[in-house]
Amino acid sequence: MRPRVLTILGATGTIGVNTLDVVARHAGRFEVFALTGATQVERMLEQCRVHRPRVAVMNEPAAAAALHDRLVAAGLDVEVRSGTAALTEVATAPEVDTVMAAIVGAAGLPATLAAAQAGKRILLANKETLVVSGQLFMDAVAASGAELLPIDSEHNAIFQSLPRGFRGDFQQAGVNALWLTASGGPFRTLSEEAIAAATPAQAVAHPNWVMGKKISVDSASLMNKGLEVIEARWLFNAHAEQIKVLVHPQSIVHSMVEYVDGSVIAQMGTPDMRTPIAYALGFPERIDAGVPMLELMGRQLTFEAPDLQRFPCLQLAFDALAAGGNAAAVLNAANEVAVARFLDGAASFGAIAASIAHALDKLAGGPASTLDDLLDADRQARRVADAFIGAARA
Ligand code: NAD
Ligand code: MG
Repeated sequence: MRPRVLTILGATGTIGVNTLDVVARHAGRFEVFALTGATQVERMLEQCRVHRPRVAVMNEPAAAAALHDRLVAAGLDVEVRSGTAALTEVATAPEVDTVMAAIVGAAGLPATLAAAQAGKRILLANKETLVVSGQLFMDAVAASGAELLPIDSEHNAIFQSLPRGFRGDFQQAGVNALWLTASGGPFRTLSEEAIAAATPAQAVAHPNWVMGKKISVDSASLMNKGLEVIEARWLFNAHAEQIKVLVHPQSIVHSMVEYVDGSVIAQMGTPDMRTPIAYALGFPERIDAGVPMLELMGRQLTFEAPDLQRFPCLQLAFDALAAGGNAAAVLNAANEVAVARFLDGAASFGAIAASIAHALDKLAGGPASTLDDLLDADRQARRVADAFIGAARA
């Protein structure tokens, strides 16, 4: 069997590290062509030592130069590149058949979209790409014959629970609804006032998952679930009213598909991202993920409705989905800015929803037919959200 040749975009992040952990369990099955990271030179050096990629990409020229020197000193023959064009090059290189898209935020869009246009197998963790450019991205996948495998645990669960070869026709497949489960995050039981005043340390302390900072804050605000609703709309060609959200604090049932005959098919497992990653890496075969088996004996699984009053970000995402056009791109960009400012200590947790609502008010309804329109909406929303947060502090 010829090995699968991988580019891992965002290799130094949580998903990237978990991906390399699974890859390392299957010697000979995978070959690493390229690894990319933003700033973490030491971690990238270590990954190069273990996985011997042909190319390593760092965002900044200074980080790339530092990595280059360390690689030479270590006697490792890895070509180092830098900048965003290099991300697209390694995502579309003819040697590569599979691209793990695990950069965080809309920063991952250009390279992930390029991989779709180049017809690669895409393991999609970078949900923001679909939120910003859903229709365009799915059109590119269809036009090139790219293969899209979801990594987000909920969407991977739904993918596993749909009939093999599902092509987005709910009626033909007898699908009634998709149920996205949500842990509820660290603020599930807090009052509205306590949530509005929460600190970054509280927000990133997720009860069930270890994740990057941005998605951890998104999980605390339930914006992560909102982004996932929009992601599900595009991945599975679902209408907004066919996507339901259910809070399930134990994170054992990763999501479900409800069929017209009353059957509900769920995928369950220990909460560990290596399961969906291994599923997508091996697809259609199942391969070892290194994940402890689920122990259900003595466990209680509970479910409750999400509280849209205490978690307005989820409502804002439903609103943006209903509005269509540029609204999801505006929502995503305003959220990225507000979360970054919150993590810097420059904005309160409550300011996240407020600045997104403000950006949607100002900008939704603008042009959205081309990628340039969407990138423009992204840029404007960043400016508007930033100014809103600045004014709130002044
Ligand atoms: P992370 O912050 O741990 O890692 C992000 C990676 O992207 C790092 O390699 C970083 O160097 C790189 N990066 C950051 N900014 C960049 C930029 N401007 N240009 C190029 N590279 C950049 O994030 P993560 O938790 O691994 O999440 C990655 C993506 O996967 C996100 O879209 C997230 O929503 C999604 N996801 C993550 C999880 C999880 O459990 N961590 C689960 C589902 C989906
Ligand atoms: Mg998820």
